[in-house]
Amino acid sequence: MADEPEALRDAAQRGDARLDDLRAAARTCTACDLYRNATQTVFGAGGEGAELMVIGEQPGDREDLAGEPFVGPAGRLLDEALDAAGIDRRLVYVTNVVKHFKWRRAPSGKRRIHQKPDRAEVQACRPWLEGEMARVQPRLVVCLGATAAQALIGPAFRVTREHGHVRPSVLGTPAIGTIHPSAVLRARTGQERQAMFDGLVADLRTARAQLRGARGKKCGTRDAKEPA
Ligand code: SF4
Repeated sequence: MADEPEALRDAAQRGDARLDDLRAAARTCTACDLYRNATQTVFGAGGEGAELMVIGEQPGDREDLAGEPFVGPAGRLLDEALDAAGIDRRLVYVTNVVKHFKWRRAPSGKRRIHQKPDRAEVQACRPWLEGEMARVQPRLVVCLGATAAQALIGPAFRVTREHGHVRPSVLGTPAIGTIHPSAVLRARTGQERQAMFDGLVADLRTARAQLRGARGKKCGTRDAKEPA
């Protein structure tokens, strides 16, 4: 196995590289400028063979510091939504289309404010995602938010219009687009937040039904009566 990051990026696209090798190589990736301002690479987490892959945009502030995806407030909300939809997160692979945190300093100088990655950054990071997809081989992908959905389903995808529908993805695996949990956190009122959360759960239930329909019950999901 070649061990240079560039060689591993190529191997990732061919599906020849193990997840642990990819994770290690991505730590030294400099394929775009986002590594310069971030604490560390945040690679995906979960087991090879997970039937559901949940893909977000990029790590947030907490994830950047922890080096793990979906461990901050949005990750906790994702846990709640997966649980409400009857999907066990421990059986799901979670990752992002971009592996470094893109941010700018707030005028106060204290907070780091998320910035949306541009198309070139998403494209630069794609070999890592392709490597994850090739190794995990999920049966279904859930794209959280427009950046992930447009990267996986197509640039014309609009979450507001097309969320919750199973679509072909550019990487071959069927995909469902839905809102990002961070959008729920930004809701202005409790009522709006509840409606957005319910919409996220409904889309995840569609994902669960799709998986169960494809392969019966053993699909990384559980019945409401089953232990989490
Ligand atoms: S965002 Fe992706 S492509 Fe850019 S430096 Fe980080 S790991 Fe490499």
